[in-house]
Amino acid sequence: MTDSPARTRTYQVRTFGCQMNVHDSERLSGLLEGAGYRAADDGDPADVVVFNTCAVRENADNKLYGNLGHLASVKAKRPGMQIAVGGCLAQKDRGEIVRRAPWVDVVFGTHNVGSLPTLLERARHYEQAQVEILDALEVFPSSLPAKRDSHYAGWVSISVGCNNTCTFCIVPSLRGKEADRRPGDVLAEVQMLVDDGVLEVTLLGQNVNSYGVQFGDRQAFGKLLRACGAIDGLERVRFTSPHPKDFTPDVIEAMAQTPNVCHQLHMPLQSGSDRVLKAMRRSYRSTRYLAILDEVRAAMPDAAITTDIIVGFPGETDEDFEQTLDVVRRSRFAGAFTFQYSPRPGTPAATLPDQVPPEVVAERFGRLTEIVTESALTENQRQVGRTVELLVSAGEGRKDNSSGRLTGRARDGRLVHFAPQPATATAAATAAAAGVSGSIRPGDVVTVTVTRAAPHHLVADEGVLTHRRTRAGDRSLEGTALITPGVGLGMPSVGRPARSPEPVTACG
Ligand code: SF4
Repeated sequence: MTDSPARTRTYQVRTFGCQMNVHDSERLSGLLEGAGYRAADDGDPADVVVFNTCAVRENADNKLYGNLGHLASVKAKRPGMQIAVGGCLAQKDRGEIVRRAPWVDVVFGTHNVGSLPTLLERARHYEQAQVEILDALEVFPSSLPAKRDSHYAGWVSISVGCNNTCTFCIVPSLRGKEADRRPGDVLAEVQMLVDDGVLEVTLLGQNVNSYGVQFGDRQAFGKLLRACGAIDGLERVRFTSPHPKDFTPDVIEAMAQTPNVCHQLHMPLQSGSDRVLKAMRRSYRSTRYLAILDEVRAAMPDAAITTDIIVGFPGETDEDFEQTLDVVRRSRFAGAFTFQYSPRPGTPAATLPDQVPPEVVAERFGRLTEIVTESALTENQRQVGRTVELLVSAGEGRKDNSSGRLTGRARDGRLVHFAPQPATATAAATAAAAGVSGSIRPGDVVTVTVTRAAPHHLVADEGVLTHRRTRAGDRSLEGTALITPGVGLGMPSVGRPARSPEPVTACG
């Protein structure tokens, strides 16, 4: 059963979870556009709804089956509609998804994102659900086309999978062992984005610091950062996430010495108790963690450091928790993602004895949140009076319409809501002298002076001091999406020598 060729089928991708999934969804959209689908308009029902799922968040499966249940009745009234489920939960639940929700047409895993258009076609042709889950990655998602969410900032994967075995984490069993892209492929993708006007890239991997493990260069990540520094027009380089165990001085040096690498570090702590870190199978200890932060701040005094912390890991005592609070106080975090531990089926920690009662976890969580908020506010208050450069963003300031402000990200990643017009005659004269003119668009670059701090954002109410119009700004107004082709030939290990044929020295 196929639609009339005159009608273009529409799609919608619904994304849950981390940056990795957000970027995979850009690939899914790119693939579907390449196969002739077009994005459904906001509010319109799509012919194909794709769920890109996450297995890390609590109740992920309840949420997925709830969403699927809602769509069952929509699909019943809409002949030809298809539903596809991919991502980590699909990789975990496999055929279980079509058993519980037989109206689902396609289930695909984390290793075969590229199969989606074929599976949709096959499901329509045979009028039968298609479930295809591979146990190992065959093709890097980065070799597939992508429909990018932004004209000014792009994600670039440097690796997929993880060789660590943190006991609370389901990722290694769903994303597999770490596979590294060749540095040449990564840099070619960065260059392609910059050629399209993108100003900022975020290098993405489950553990960016172990980049190079597959081709035998433990310093590959620092070299990659330095190589990004040589790309003309690339203004900002970020990365996520590093792992304290693999965080080496050469990376700190590369960050400090490469002007376009932002002084921003998201370094997951998870716990400040060495006993709990051991039980989590995270091989650094709190003193090492704090020493890394000291080294980072010695090299980059302006670095904004954020973290992830889990409260209530099995066996965590009051004393362990106090140790976490102590490390948090000493770390001067600019922000933290804090999580209440809850067992994830399939992870080693889920079956550990001494699960901490939920009310204890909640009480500790409240105390941690207070301290993290205090720390973030103190760090943000240091920014008041400083002049910062912002890359103007789209859709990050929820109250922008009512406040009349715009929003941007400072080089250190801080969110800044700013008044676009000079607020005083002096500021107006300064702006005029600096050539500030015309409307400010997402993707443009402005400088502002911070006037106020809150725990999660800064405010700059004296207007802009300078405004640079960019190609990304022009394109964000055009309303056309940025679609990039895939970069790379696939997995380096397929039919190739184990070491990268491109010397990593190409990285700098
Ligand atoms: S480093 Fe640990 S928490 Fe992060 S993805 Fe790997 S196993 Fe999971």
